[in-house]
Amino acid sequence: MRLLALLGTLSLGGADAPPPFAFADFRILPLRVHRLQSPTEPSLRTTLSPADIERILSKVNRVWAQAGLHFTLESLVTEAALMPELAAVNRDARQLDWLLKCFPAKSRRADCLHVYYIKQFAVNGVFLRQQSMVVKDTARLRAVEGGLDEPLPRVTSHELGHALGLPHRQAVTNLMASGTTGWSLEAKEIETARATAAQWPWAQPASTLMKEADALFGAGKRAEADALYRQLRHLPLDCPEVRRARDRSGNGTAPTPP
Ligand SMILES: [Zn+2]
Repeated sequence: MRLLALLGTLSLGGADAPPPFAFADFRILPLRVHRLQSPTEPSLRTTLSPADIERILSKVNRVWAQAGLHFTLESLVTEAALMPELAAVNRDARQLDWLLKCFPAKSRRADCLHVYYIKQFAVNGVFLRQQSMVVKDTARLRAVEGGLDEPLPRVTSHELGHALGLPHRQAVTNLMASGTTGWSLEAKEIETARATAAQWPWAQPASTLMKEADALFGAGKRAEADALYRQLRHLPLDCPEVRRARDRSGNGTAPTPP
């Protein structure tokens, strides 16, 4: 089993083995990251910086490279939580849908995934409806052998797994185990996640974006080409397409918020 062999060699802290998928197999999933703020409710106030988000996303993408899926930062939104009083009322609630009421509708869109970072709630993270996940800054996990070296990329990757149709699986080194630092996926889980992403019209194959970017670049439409190349430049692959995306896109900074 190639995947089992990978587990022994693929380390997110050190030198990585090449992922089992090539550029043409990858699909690009736009992700809007929301940094929630609240002047009155500390539990709804993340203290993650844009640099933290960048680091988290790069580790998430090394986890999900094993499935040929790549999350691109559609935008980074810093916004005030609505109805902050709900946090105190629902502190011990098992049902977590109340969180959706704290998220401003104006910064939501249907054609991407949404991750919200807050400071504190009942669990490490949760996948809610409307393509939305919530992760807390203060997440804690049980370390397992070969596991991820910090909680937030693991919790974020796990919730994205739910968004991609994966249920829990309590094998401690698996990404879908509850509360561990495990991050591996089985072939069947990879298949399910890829099939889910393939149903989302806004999650395009990397090769489609590359073709569009090259055509725009050739036509002298540099700004439009740049927007597409930026979605490809951080793929954890060493191949001509990614090198071209890097060479032809700007300085690699995150997109500006809307
Ligand atoms: Zn879960």
